[in-house]
Amino acid sequence: MRKAEKTYDVCIVGSGAGGGMAAYVLTKAGANVLLLEAGPEWYATKDSKMLVPEYSSPRRGGSTKTKPFGEFDGCIGGWEIEGEPYTRAPGTNFDWWRARMLGGRTSHWGRISLRFGPDDFRGKSRDGLGDDWPIGYGDLAPYYDQVDELIGVFGSHEGLYNHPDGRFLPPPKPRCYELMIKQACDHLGVTCIPSRLSIITEPIHGRAACHYCGQCGRGCGTASNFSSPDVLIAPALKTGKLTLVCNAMAREVTVGQDGLAQGVAYIDKTTNTERHASARVVVLAASACESARILLNSKSAGFPQGLANSSGVVGKYLTDTTGAGVSGFIPKMMDHVPHNEDGVGGAHIYSPWWLDNAKLDFPRGYHIEMGGGLDSPGYGFMGGIQEYPPGGGYGTQLKDDYRRYYGATVGFSGRGEMIPNADSYCELDPNVVDRYGIPVLRFHWKWSDHELNQVKHMQETFRALIADMGGTVFDPMPTKEQGYGIAPGGRIIHELGCVIMGNDPGSSVLNAHCQAHDCKNLFVADGGPFVSQADKNPTWTILALSMRTSEYIAQQRAAGAL
Ligand SMILES: Cc1cc2nc3c(=O)[nH]c(=O)nc-3n(C[C@H](O)[C@H](O)[C@H](O)COP(=O)(O)OP(=O)(O)OC[C@H]3O[C@@H](n4cnc5c(N)ncnc54)[C@H](O)[C@@H]3O)c2cc1C
Ligand code: SF4
Repeated sequence: MRKAEKTYDVCIVGSGAGGGMAAYVLTKAGANVLLLEAGPEWYATKDSKMLVPEYSSPRRGGSTKTKPFGEFDGCIGGWEIEGEPYTRAPGTNFDWWRARMLGGRTSHWGRISLRFGPDDFRGKSRDGLGDDWPIGYGDLAPYYDQVDELIGVFGSHEGLYNHPDGRFLPPPKPRCYELMIKQACDHLGVTCIPSRLSIITEPIHGRAACHYCGQCGRGCGTASNFSSPDVLIAPALKTGKLTLVCNAMAREVTVGQDGLAQGVAYIDKTTNTERHASARVVVLAASACESARILLNSKSAGFPQGLANSSGVVGKYLTDTTGAGVSGFIPKMMDHVPHNEDGVGGAHIYSPWWLDNAKLDFPRGYHIEMGGGLDSPGYGFMGGIQEYPPGGGYGTQLKDDYRRYYGATVGFSGRGEMIPNADSYCELDPNVVDRYGIPVLRFHWKWSDHELNQVKHMQETFRALIADMGGTVFDPMPTKEQGYGIAPGGRIIHELGCVIMGNDPGSSVLNAHCQAHDCKNLFVADGGPFVSQADKNPTWTILALSMRTSEYIAQQRAAGAL
């Protein structure tokens, strides 16, 4: 192995939410940082197709195998990546979305930016299930505040105990169909408040305010939403302290005789050669499962089951958010007066979890994401006009029907908390390697009744809301045998855990600072350290946790401990 001549203060693997934040904080603290990223360079401000009209393409923006979220979507990666397989144990239904680009999934994510609440860090203490985190909301609150101010998030001050308010920019007003949804929510006692999205509605830090084109998933050409390259990596580069190496696929963390991390062995994808980067501190932020994979592949005499894995817990506690969706046709929204429903690329309202689980047959909650309206129609929009009474046909009649029905549908998606279980984990597949010769992950997955009962509740709630709006649901209620319509594991793309934090080195990989129990100069700064999910999307917590971990690294370096 050829060693790089230079030893960096810190080598970070992965440039998404977690890695971008680590690069930002550590370079600002004066460290010489090397950032290894498996994909190519990509900045939304240069590369996004934000304002390309759907009709400019023969495909009308329709999805492809490599662009499942639409032809102009910002992400390079997907459910399957050529030459980089993963496998599933028999009976496992789990899909793994991977980005391979600067900024990772922040190039096209949904930007729903929710803090975890005080209860979310102490699940076991509340109901005996899963585990408590080694930190509480109070430990992360100052970092959430800083993330809010650095990146920008809009929202409203509601004073809800387990949905803490942040340092919000003003939220946009609800659209017409969102007001109608809110009416139904109010009627049925479902809390419904303005969304909390990391989209800036006022200019901050030299970034322009959102101009409401609604195309966030393509990447924002004016950096008005959060993506790691434009908001974190570009300023980190400006410090002169960051060396960015793209197309660098990390294989393993190398370890010296002293048991400390020496650096990272990686494949330079442009030349297909093996390289090594030396560093005094290694931070893995390649996404939860990929960081576990790197650790499991980092085998040495001192760490025969993989680095930082003396507990055998690396790969365990894999969770995803639960998900189910119901959409409905609302006749009273037909033939509406044409009006402008432009807005941010996402809903302007949402429902945080509003009920008491002690009175329900499932232990943890979910939030509701709403959809509908009149954004620019793309290929296959409305998903089958023949379903609408009496829609379908040919020629002028068909075009008229599209005009009458468009905007007369609403959708509800539930996003809930899964309890970690022993049957859901990843490990190395002993028989399969990727195109670089790196052993791949094999997934095991099972939902329990906790999740199935929760999703049944989602279905019933969404159907009740649609009925309250005078609407019709085309799909029948799924049965228990159909899992009540629960999305397969991984499909909500909130996979967390696999490198969990905890106070006990026998049952966790990292301590409360996301520092490996077994290797003091190794840290993890993505979704890997999460002890549990919550009824919230995870990325705001990944960012806050990465900021906290990075500040700790900077303090330890200043104290000479690293
Ligand atoms: C369509 C979509 C919508 C989403 N919406 C939301 C939302 O609304 N709210 C929310 O909170 N979350 C959302 N998420 C999830 C969110 O994107 C992730 O939680 C977040 O990006 C995870 O950050 P990360 O740093 O762990 O990983 P990523 O952002 O995936 O970054 C990992 C990086 O590591 C790189 N990498 C991987 N392996 C290697 C390797 N071996 N060597 C070198 N580099 C490597 C990858 O190329 C990538 O750049 C969404 C995700 C998707 C796909
Ligand atoms: S809606 Fe706003 S934040 Fe999203 S892409 Fe358009 S301008 Fe950017």
